[in-house]
Amino acid sequence: MGNLTDPRYIRALCEKYDFRLKKSLGQNFLHDASVLEEIVEAALPEGGGALEIGPGFGVLTEALAGQAERVVAVEIDDRLLPVLDETLAPFDNVSVVHGDVLKLDLPALLKESFGDMPVSVAANLPYYITTPILLALLEKNLPLRRIVVMMQKEVADRIMAAPGGKDYGALTVAVQYRCEVRRVCRVPAASFFPPPKVDSEVLCLSMRENPVVWPKNEDHFFALVRAVFAQRRKTLVNGLANAGRFGTKEKIATAVEKMGLSPTVRGETLSIAQLSSLSDALYV
Ligand code: SAM
Repeated sequence: MGNLTDPRYIRALCEKYDFRLKKSLGQNFLHDASVLEEIVEAALPEGGGALEIGPGFGVLTEALAGQAERVVAVEIDDRLLPVLDETLAPFDNVSVVHGDVLKLDLPALLKESFGDMPVSVAANLPYYITTPILLALLEKNLPLRRIVVMMQKEVADRIMAAPGGKDYGALTVAVQYRCEVRRVCRVPAASFFPPPKVDSEVLCLSMRENPVVWPKNEDHFFALVRAVFAQRRKTLVNGLANAGRFGTKEKIATAVEKMGLSPTVRGETLSIAQLSSLSDALYV
């Protein structure tokens, strides 16, 4: 059995299977044993099930297999399936599902694969679809314990941002609404084969038992959040009035005033609690 953290073995596998890495699928393979350890430790401190997105050659998969009761890894690239057959052969608690994680029926997959076992997601995400994957994992209200994922540093900054800055946006609110967020580690480009052009970070998103606020209507709240951040250069009142579905400009201005905010306040300065209050005030 080869060592998947040794770039020479990764190169040998590429040669053996005539495999060319596809940039368009975000194929930058991790070969840093200490980062793998940190991901596994953050995702599975108490064991349980692991859902991996994008196993690549299986370097994280095998690390997870040592700690998890069961690992299910979803890989879109069928050229990787024979490689994974070889690299994951020693593990009888791992199965690979061929598919696009954004198209799979995740609730059904989790139920079938893990039953009632607590499940964490662990992944070195393909960077071109980090946000849609995170939103899919959060929006479907999946029965997950935590999500431990490697992403581009800029996306991690957006997720961890506080109100008022340029990084604070709809993604911040969507994640922090459902999760407590902590930074696990920074990962330099040199930890990957081939090195990406960006630095990376691993975040641990622990699912909250209850959301951080209780808007009267969640769909209305998220529609308002999207509208607020879609029009960042406008004032909150003008941006929401332009969106068309939150009532007249006068109604919005009155709600903003009642919250004790300036009529020219910008939406990106509002906390999640304030966004929720505004959503409630405008919900009919
Ligand atoms: N886990 C490996 C590692 O850490 O070295 C590979 C990570 S690589 C950054 C991303 C992986 O996600 C690749 O194997 C790629 O083929 C796969 N992938 C890309 N888009 C995907 C999708 N929509 N669904 C499932 N897997 C995907």
